[in-house]
Amino acid sequence: MAYDPDNIFARILRGEIPCKRVFEDDFALAFHDINPLAPVHVLVIPKGPYVSNADFAANAPDGLVLGFWRAVGKVANQLGLDPEGYRIVSNHGPNGGQLVFHFHVHLFGGRTMGHRMGNMPRSTDT
Ligand code: 5GP
Repeated sequence: MAYDPDNIFARILRGEIPCKRVFEDDFALAFHDINPLAPVHVLVIPKGPYVSNADFAANAPDGLVLGFWRAVGKVANQLGLDPEGYRIVSNHGPNGGQLVFHFHVHLFGGRTMGHRMGNMPRSTDT
C-alpha cells in the first residue's frame, strides 16, 4: 500500500488538525488518542511517511528507528507509567485492525489490563 500523505496522522504532524500533544522531538510526536481505551491512551508516531510497522522497519533510516523507539520509552517515562507498567500495541493491516495508515504505537496505562494476547484492551477490561 502506498503512503497517503493526507492520512489523519500526517495532517496532525503538519499541524493541520489539532491534537493533545504529550511529547515531541526530532523523531516522533506523541498525543492522546481521541477515543481512549484506558486512563492513559497515547499514540506515538514517527516523523516520516511510513504506512505500518512493516514499512517502518524495512525502510526507515536507522537513526529514525532508534529515535522513534527511544521516544516511545521517553513518553512512557514522562507519563509516569514505568513503575506500574503499561502496554504497547501496533496494529498492522486488515487482520491487525489498523485504521490509520501512518505507522503508530498505542501506549496504554493507568489500569491493569487483562492478559489477552492479540487483543486491544477494551474499556470494559478489569
Ligand atoms: P489503529 O489504526 O491502530 O487501529 O488505531 C487508530 C487510532 O487513532 C484509534 O485508536 C483512533 O481512536 C485514533 N484516532 C483516529 N483519528 C484520530 C484523531 O483525529 N485524533 C486522535 N488523537 N486520534 C485519532
